[in-house]
Amino acid sequence: MSSEEITHATIKDGWFREISEMWPGQAMTLRVKKVLHHEKSKYQDVLIFESTDYGTVLVLDNVIQCTERDEFSYQEMITHLAMNSHPNPKKVLVIGGGDGGVLREVVKHDCVEEATLCDIDEAVIRLSKQYLPGMAAGFEHPKVKVHVGDGFKFLEDYQNTFDVIITDSSDPEGPAESLFKKSYFELLHSALREGGVITTQGSENQWLHLPLIAQLKKDCQEVFAVAEYAYTTIPTYPSGQIGFMVCSKDPKANVKEPLRQWTAEEEDQKCKYYSADIHKASFVLPNFAKKALQ
Ligand code: SAM
Repeated sequence: MSSEEITHATIKDGWFREISEMWPGQAMTLRVKKVLHHEKSKYQDVLIFESTDYGTVLVLDNVIQCTERDEFSYQEMITHLAMNSHPNPKKVLVIGGGDGGVLREVVKHDCVEEATLCDIDEAVIRLSKQYLPGMAAGFEHPKVKVHVGDGFKFLEDYQNTFDVIITDSSDPEGPAESLFKKSYFELLHSALREGGVITTQGSENQWLHLPLIAQLKKDCQEVFAVAEYAYTTIPTYPSGQIGFMVCSKDPKANVKEPLRQWTAEEEDQKCKYYSADIHKASFVLPNFAKKALQ
């Protein structure tokens, strides 16, 4: 089928529209230049299109996962908030993250000896390699191992193994549902070595999901010695923002300040968004959110 013939229910009059009950009464729209690929994988609807202004866009079950223009703000923050909160991360696990962007960031840390990725959907990995090479570059690194399978089930087989685990999942409706449960955080906790650190997407947006974030923070606090909420700005996620839980097994850890830092020159070479200053600032919340999460 030629790309001109590919149609998709989310695209009308040349505009992709992300409409969901998760963000009622509002929608993110992007102008479509060309639909590159559409398939129903075993787990989800996978759409890839070239937008006029945000580069190539990956959409799963009608929800934007990443665009070439702004993905770095998410990938750098979810990765380096965890990596720089650990004194010496050697063994790292990424759950989800099938586009490869988080892996690309993980291997920027020379101390890493092994980075494993476990994504449920081979289609996301395969298509990211084809259409999102800037992110999928993460798969090419010699320290990287890939496992295709359910992250929840994968973790059940590991105890006391990883220094950092990053959960880069899609939203809770669909295959990622189990990755938002308290039992998942318990699995993460036992798969970590002493002093281990996690970050997890799913903390969504302060303008839209404060009760959900409050529940997530409570669950994490019941499991981890330290559990804090941070966020990044990103135009193509609902309301331009997404949050992370950053948690540590070490009760003395202060994840709000980077334990390890790059020099200003290294920061400049390695990152477009993350810096030691942004690390600290990302935990500072506006009053309305601070109150709701206290
Ligand atoms: N940054 C994106 C966001 O916030 O929208 C997420 C990007 S990443 C592509 C999400 C990945 O999570 C997808 O590749 C999906 O296949 C994977 N995923 C969903 N449920 C999963 C599960 N139970 N185990 C492992 N990976 C899962």
